[in-house]
Amino acid sequence: MDKVPVYDNHFHMSPAGRNVDALLEFQAAGGTGITLVTLPYAEVPITKGSDFEESFKITYDLARKARERTDVEINVAVGPYPVLIIPLSEKYGLEAAEEMLMQGMEDAAKDIAEGKACAIGEVGRPHFPTEQRYVDAANRVLQRGMELGKELDVPLIIHCESEDHTDRSLSEMARKVGLDPGMVIKHSSPPLVTEEETFGVMPSMPASKSNIKTALGKGTTRFMIETDYIDDPAKPTSIMAPATVPNKVRQMLGSGMADEEVVCRICKDIPDSLYHR
Ligand SMILES: [Zn+2]
Repeated sequence: MDKVPVYDNHFHMSPAGRNVDALLEFQAAGGTGITLVTLPYAEVPITKGSDFEESFKITYDLARKARERTDVEINVAVGPYPVLIIPLSEKYGLEAAEEMLMQGMEDAAKDIAEGKACAIGEVGRPHFPTEQRYVDAANRVLQRGMELGKELDVPLIIHCESEDHTDRSLSEMARKVGLDPGMVIKHSSPPLVTEEETFGVMPSMPASKSNIKTALGKGTTRFMIETDYIDDPAKPTSIMAPATVPNKVRQMLGSGMADEEVVCRICKDIPDSLYHR
């Protein structure tokens, strides 16, 4: 697949996992670019707001190693992982937990302003039903993140529930602070891809054949694809393998489901427009 762009829009690396070796597997299969998204790492337990920035340093270090050992384009996203609002609240109280995530959001923005990363993520809300007070706190942190995204002109990668109303709610939150909803990327999106379904939000879907087929069947190429490769040695098979996106792109081209123009749009034009600002 020479010269065909192959972009995985949601990829994690862990110091304790396969990290760069996984990325080498992605590259060997034809992969050309990823969004490297920070995660809470066992190496830096979050016990105060400034711990988020400490944990982002692990992501920067992994990105540097990956750039040394591969030719893969790496766009780094940092931000406070939203599900943490629950365990941090249970341990320190809701107010302190919200302050901690808020500081993580501010520090992510500071790092982005310094050129260490080019997107805010993954941020958002718990993806499962939980108490409204947690959802409200998560929404306040997310709203601040959208303000910062607008100021910095960078996209946000959103981890949240996947209900039908989700994109509408994200779009409304973005518009409230003057952020283009197209800068709001719905991670792990269902194949909701048309203007009526997204309300302007940018979908990033798990790279399954059925998702891709359904999305293309709706007559649009406005979406990205991802694995959410988790790189957790404790859960080696819990998610898609690193070579999934290259393999899917090869199948799309081989089966005639998509031509090179479509692949270029999904794997180059859209990521470029979001991450090269
Ligand atoms: Zn993720």
